[in-house]
Amino acid sequence: MINIETIRKDFPILQREVYGKPLVYLDNAATTQKPRCVVESITNEYYSVNANVHRGVHFLSQQATELHEGSRKTVQRFINARSSNEIIFTRGTTESINLLAFCFGEVFCEEGDEIIISVMEHHSNIVPWQLLAARKGVTIKVVPINEKGELLMEDYKALFSERTKLVSLTHVSNVLGTINPVKKIIAIAHEHNVPVLIDGAQSVPHMKVDVQDLDVEFYAFSAHKVYGPTGVGVLYGKEAWLDKLPPYQGGGEMIQHVSFEKTTFNELPFKFEAGTPDYIGTTALAVALDYVSKIGMDEIAAYENELTTYAMNRLKTVKGMRIFGESSQKGSVISFLVGDIHHLDMGTLLDRLGIAVRTGHHCAQPLMQSLGIEGTVRASFAFYNTKKEVDALVAGIERVSKMF
Ligand code: PMP
Repeated sequence: MINIETIRKDFPILQREVYGKPLVYLDNAATTQKPRCVVESITNEYYSVNANVHRGVHFLSQQATELHEGSRKTVQRFINARSSNEIIFTRGTTESINLLAFCFGEVFCEEGDEIIISVMEHHSNIVPWQLLAARKGVTIKVVPINEKGELLMEDYKALFSERTKLVSLTHVSNVLGTINPVKKIIAIAHEHNVPVLIDGAQSVPHMKVDVQDLDVEFYAFSAHKVYGPTGVGVLYGKEAWLDKLPPYQGGGEMIQHVSFEKTTFNELPFKFEAGTPDYIGTTALAVALDYVSKIGMDEIAAYENELTTYAMNRLKTVKGMRIFGESSQKGSVISFLVGDIHHLDMGTLLDRLGIAVRTGHHCAQPLMQSLGIEGTVRASFAFYNTKKEVDALVAGIERVSKMF
């Protein structure tokens, strides 16, 4: 059971006010707030352990290395990877996808090959493939959605051809909230011997993810959306696949030996980690993962599901409410418009009431185009949000509506 009173005390920012009103933070899909233990991990490491990792024989360097490599093991356990060699630290989901698009494209893609994505992807799972398309002449094929915001599975199946090289889809939509049936999606791709990358930016913070159970080749997520620091992310990859890929960037750490005649590359995972990693951030990520693990991912999912259902029911009582994304499998993201009130007006006026929501296209312009709208207002919940905050959101929307 989630003890909301105790949990909220762990997040100092939730106690603050904006415009003299208690902060109601409902922008968790953009980034989550940080528990005290994560912030303390950052200051403590800078104050008492800081030294560059891997290269030093001295005490601090070894201690920092132990923390950094220990974090890799924490991530491995958190997503149930087979080996910590399969955990590549990056700057975030965006860099993880760019890394894969570049490295996979280098060895596996030729002109005329095809990549499958979907209409509900974030720009970070569209543009890297467009860059690959420009570089290699690959074609991007797009899975459409139905009116509830669910992927059309028959259309997905029909997109495969002899030239399909990779499927890259989001686990949970950051606009519609739809939880895609990724296990089924992966199994279908495997029937065609096609590997899969899943964008887990919106899933890892909200549900138990088991990469072995999914049998997925590649999986990406960001630390800052799972209560960890900014600037750190993860690319999981099956070892056999990562071994086949060339390095992404060159520099220190990623080499075995450098000479002007011939340079050899380091083993996994270091082959993909050129330069000094954000070792302070990786330690803080591990602290964040331990923190949510202690609460329990299943408990978090159950609580957020209850909160989202409550919010959906309450929001539907508002006159003129249009909700985008009504899948039965829905994460804690609700996008909406009310009457003909512009999303920016709604967001700005809610802000004045202390309610933080996001407005706009949410880095999913192709999805907006397919919905025939410019943008939405988006409320997204975390396990520290309450029904009282949902009530404040609904009251705020009603107040704004009356003004128009
Ligand atoms: N994919 C999805 C589904 C997202 O919601 C986001 C963040 N909004 C990203 C990718 C990109 O994550 P980041 O900016 O942390 O790299």
